[in-house]
Amino acid sequence: MTTVQNLKTPNACNWCPGCGNFGIWTAVKEAAAKERWNNTNSVIVAGIGCHGHINNFIELSSFEGLHGRAIPVASAIKMVNHRLNVMVFTGDGDCLAEGGNHFMHAARRNQNLTVILHDNAIYGLTTGQTSPRSPHGFKSKSTPMGNLDEPINPLTLAISAGATFVARAYSGDIPRLTDLIIQANNHNGFSVLQILQPCVTFNKIYSHTFFQENTYHLPASYNPQDKTAAFAKTLEWGEKQIPVGVIYKEDRPSYEDQVPQIKAAPLISVAAKKRNINETLETFL
Ligand code: SF4
Repeated sequence: MTTVQNLKTPNACNWCPGCGNFGIWTAVKEAAAKERWNNTNSVIVAGIGCHGHINNFIELSSFEGLHGRAIPVASAIKMVNHRLNVMVFTGDGDCLAEGGNHFMHAARRNQNLTVILHDNAIYGLTTGQTSPRSPHGFKSKSTPMGNLDEPINPLTLAISAGATFVARAYSGDIPRLTDLIIQANNHNGFSVLQILQPCVTFNKIYSHTFFQENTYHLPASYNPQDKTAAFAKTLEWGEKQIPVGVIYKEDRPSYEDQVPQIKAAPLISVAAKKRNINETLETFL
């Protein structure tokens, strides 16, 4: 049985006190306990960044990819065993800079993966450089005179690229975050959950107070299946104008639904029965 208690590992947590990663960590454990994720039915894949340490603090099967490569690693795992529940943990730099192209094309493919995007709008692990989510004018070690670039909007990008579940949460609201992680995970298709997460050490703009004061919850009357309305929601950002909740949801066959070779059984179970590589390849053609 999965409980929050037995998801703990012996590793000491090394995030800075107050870091938004703590909320995400707590919510993922709550979701895992509720949904009974364990080492045999789930895999978590992380990229490089402070977020990536989550692999060390949750007792689930895990893999830490190269910088920006968490999505292709997760994609390969899902491809060989689509019955596994595969989740990707990635930061805004990891996902949208080094891994930007992977993000876009995985969304297009609509593979049944859940992307948990830890968005603190800075490179924290490398001690505070401007990221693709840092606002225009943002001053850091890498842009001491102010950032000249505009930030990427990951949710607008996700919808336009083909993601079929797009949501946003704040790391400090654990009950709602837990619920959104579960909803994203239960969606059959490519799910993106952007989590607004303070980096208390290096980003003094996007603090807990900033997110608490400026986010609002989408009302029950909001229809996440209206794509035009969803695009408009993703563009909202400003004082008391940052929507959180399920922004877009679409029912479309996932990649796995469209591959007849895996209908009966996962590729890994077919390959395991074959004696040589040629025999295995013929099965898949
Ligand atoms: Fe969290 Fe920032 Fe510290 Fe990294 S540097 S652990 S993101 S507060």
